[in-house]
Amino acid sequence: MLYILHTTGQCNLNCKYCGGSFPQKLVPWKIEYSIEDLKNFIEGDSEPIIAFYGGEPLLNAKFIRNVMDEIKDAKYVIQTNATLIENLEKEYWLKFNAILLSIDGRRKITDYYRGRGVYDKVIKAAKKLRRIGYNGDLIARMTVSEKSKIYAEVKHLESLKLFNHIHWQLNVVWSEKWKNFNEWCKNNYIPGFTKIVEEWLRNAEKGEVIGIAPILGILKVEITGISMESPPCGSGKTSISICSNGKIYACPIAVDSKWAEIGDIYNYDWRTVKRISIRDPCIKCQYYKYCGGRCLYTYMEKLWGEEGFKSICKITKKTIREVVKITRRVIELIEEGIIVEEEVVYPKFNNTIEIIP
Ligand code: SF4
Ligand code: SF4
Repeated sequence: MLYILHTTGQCNLNCKYCGGSFPQKLVPWKIEYSIEDLKNFIEGDSEPIIAFYGGEPLLNAKFIRNVMDEIKDAKYVIQTNATLIENLEKEYWLKFNAILLSIDGRRKITDYYRGRGVYDKVIKAAKKLRRIGYNGDLIARMTVSEKSKIYAEVKHLESLKLFNHIHWQLNVVWSEKWKNFNEWCKNNYIPGFTKIVEEWLRNAEKGEVIGIAPILGILKVEITGISMESPPCGSGKTSISICSNGKIYACPIAVDSKWAEIGDIYNYDWRTVKRISIRDPCIKCQYYKYCGGRCLYTYMEKLWGEEGFKSICKITKKTIREVVKITRRVIELIEEGIIVEEEVVYPKFNNTIEIIP
């Protein structure tokens, strides 16, 4: 089970898409349960994955230290805006199995959405993590919005040679409707993504597997023959979010949604919390095997209405088709020994990437 811990509801940034901190009454800025409560809750889970999430988790580095000191046998993940990495000591950084740094691509895009100077801080943080010897999975975690040019943003991050993997999620549904999402998809995202996939394959032909997470995640379905988890992030099934007040939600952003409340750590253990499933129309969709219903929050909330849901499905289906098109060749490349299956099959465990953008 993946346990996403709201380490604090507070954030030191005020990004355009999420508006900064959670209100204290929804996600308190201090942890209200004890480490013992947490240990009791996850006891018996032989493969716990713990992800620190915010707000900005490094505003509560003390809690991170406490958890990592007390729960030794977990895999550890952190999603951070990377501006406060000095708050945690090297010995803790080196224990993470995956570190996700939020960066949206080029400097002008990152700084436009996240605030002036943020891009430089993230790059500095990534370099520092490498310098202190971090050799785990360093992931560039992008939010893709209307001003993003998907090809330029991804290629830029790739060119830095700092990150093992690049992942993105579309800033849809939980934000205001875009001025023209469908046009952006048609003129920017789809041609850009198609080019990314073509270049990915050209590199694979030369023996290099570029860590573009959505490509690898969809290829994984074809290579392993195992359908995508539904939803791919595991929310409400194999991933639960523990709020700083001890309440449990199916998805970490759904802290004001009744449907997402599935228990609390005082009265339940991880085996007995309620599970939530995606159903129609996804389970009847021919892309379900690869898509898994994409995002539980979008499925439940439909904040852009049915039409909006369909627009997002359209871009999802196109994304999947572009990757499925190259599968046969990728499998040949693996069989010919040009690339290694181990590098293509990703993620190896639920490291909080949502796989389907
Ligand atoms: S493409 Fe749309 S309908 Fe099909 S599985 Fe994904 S989210 Fe559901
Ligand atoms: S992909 Fe959707 S359901 Fe999953 S964690 Fe993100 S918002 Fe929640």
